[in-house]
Amino acid sequence: MKNKLALAIDGPASSGKSTVAKLIADEKNFIYIDTGAMYRALTYHALDQGVDIHDGLSLLDLLDQSKISFAKKNGDQLTYLNGQDVSLAIRQNDVTQAVSQVSSHKEVRQEMVRRQQELASQGSVVMDGRDIGTVVLPDAEVKIFLEASPEERARRRYQENQSKGISSTYQDLLEEIKKRDQLDSTREVSPLKQAQDAVVIDTTSLTIEEVKDKILQQF
Ligand code: C5P
Repeated sequence: MKNKLALAIDGPASSGKSTVAKLIADEKNFIYIDTGAMYRALTYHALDQGVDIHDGLSLLDLLDQSKISFAKKNGDQLTYLNGQDVSLAIRQNDVTQAVSQVSSHKEVRQEMVRRQQELASQGSVVMDGRDIGTVVLPDAEVKIFLEASPEERARRRYQENQSKGISSTYQDLLEEIKKRDQLDSTREVSPLKQAQDAVVIDTTSLTIEEVKDKILQQF
């Protein structure tokens, strides 16, 4: 058996990627890399610094000055931007609404993919996102594409937001999810799409444990 394994999990917003990725990372002792959090951290930084989210080169400039890192604390995966804990800030509505615009720039994606590949070279990884099986880790041993209906995803996001104290309505979340699906899957540079060799799992009526078991069966 190879001593370094990669699991790529792709899928649309709130399809359950990060929840199941964290469980599997814990169980298999893999490093977990949430690539969405990286795009969110840059988006948060741009909004905070007043950088135009339609200007790819300015965003790249900002990214070049940004250290984005992860650390585990009390079982939680935290995201840091230049040493500051931004885990909660990057889940706020303003960031969520702007992130698909930020992630659509090819300059930004190139640098993010470079960083993600570097992180993956450090050990066995579970990486989740939109282009992991297709672009970031095309040689991953296991590739999963998670799906769920927009309504189910909005319901999950609503519950998650409530537990984190982020205010939102179900209807707004459903609209936002549909809009992000549309932007993420129609953008020019590495759009959200399943890798040809990915195993597709529809999670709409599955529990998180069932999804986890289905993924672990692939190893
Ligand atoms: O996974 P999450 O919903 O947190 O991702 C936030 C956004 O980051 C996505 O809607 C997408 O625009 C972008 N993203 C991306 N490529 C990835 C991960 C996320 O474009 N690999």
